[in-house]
Amino acid sequence: MTAQNSVTAGLMVGTPNVIQLVGVTKSYKTVEVLKPVDLDIRDGEFLTILGPSGSGKTTILRMIGGFTPPSSGRILLRGTDIVHVPIYKRPFNTVFQDYALFPHMTVARNVGYGLRIRKTPQAEIKRRVEAVLETVNLADKAGRYPAELSGGQRQRVALARAIVCEPQVILLDEPLAALDAELRRSMQEFLKDLQRRIRTTFVFITHDQEEAISMSDRIAVMDHGNLVQVGTPQEIYYKPKSEFVAKFFGENNILPASASGSPPLAVIESPLGKHWAPADHQGALLFAIRPESFRLHDGSDLSAGERVAKARLDSVTFLGATTQLSLSVGASDEHRVKIRIPTALSTQNLVVGSDVMLRWSETDVSFLPKG
Ligand code: ADP
Ligand code: MG
Repeated sequence: MTAQNSVTAGLMVGTPNVIQLVGVTKSYKTVEVLKPVDLDIRDGEFLTILGPSGSGKTTILRMIGGFTPPSSGRILLRGTDIVHVPIYKRPFNTVFQDYALFPHMTVARNVGYGLRIRKTPQAEIKRRVEAVLETVNLADKAGRYPAELSGGQRQRVALARAIVCEPQVILLDEPLAALDAELRRSMQEFLKDLQRRIRTTFVFITHDQEEAISMSDRIAVMDHGNLVQVGTPQEIYYKPKSEFVAKFFGENNILPASASGSPPLAVIESPLGKHWAPADHQGALLFAIRPESFRLHDGSDLSAGERVAKARLDSVTFLGATTQLSLSVGASDEHRVKIRIPTALSTQNLVVGSDVMLRWSETDVSFLPKG
């Protein structure tokens, strides 16, 4: 990993940033739990902060929300530094994992709480609470108390309470973590759909890779207090920039490689033969390619950038629509590769122990710094 941990994602035209973190760090006593983070959050996007427990996700969210100050750096809201703006003056609302509903208040009063604090007129509170309860499909539960609701309903009350104040950004700290698997999936869909309907920027925290991939416009990956990569789910999945990211999402084949040669292209030697990459790659590397990026070579013409290599078939596992093959590659078959291909008549006739030809495209390979 490089010393500079900031990841600056390119700005899309027409989507100005709502929040920018510039060199933001956090230390508790002498321990720096967050290394300098640069992160642009775009207006209207669903941005997920993803990382293992303890990687610094909540710390980032709490600093954006104003619950805790950064140790250094700037937090900008549409270009204006808000580091010294108190929580209640920031146009954000937070949904916590435990929902933090008031047990002695009805659903309607819970949802209207923020508006009452802001001294909104009674009639307007009533109108907005009703509209928001409609949005989260809880119009018929307005008079209930939190204890009389299911986990998923409580979750939707917490969401309603966050959106009723029409914040510019909604901050969500693992809001689905307490739900069982089935409810969690339906809440994922609900939340994503809600975000599309109200077009509010969501900053969502999870430690669940699949959840991040299925819900997000972009994902910011955290590792030990470092923001290691920001990108679309496809970029994070197919173009990881580090071994950590390459291994964090789903199955991947990671092989040793080494790069040499002069600009513009380096020659990369790997157990899957020679590849070419921009010459900023030099020395020891890792070579990553997803199981589904391979095909079996049927002898048809290769297009530009396609590569082939011989492999020994070690096992065949039928998975339903796809079949997984384990293979050995390299000069003396010393490296293992897993591939996943659509199940077909031909895959049922594969003979374990025989040689097959693998085929893949150079564009599906990522070259990563080693270590
Ligand atoms: P995550 O949300 O990714 O699980 P956190 O942001 O909560 O991680 O924590 C990041 C690191 O900061 C952890 O090592 C945690 O122990 C530490 N940390 C968080 N809050 C405090 C605190 N108030 N005092 C000391 N250390 C803290
Ligand atoms: Mg956390």
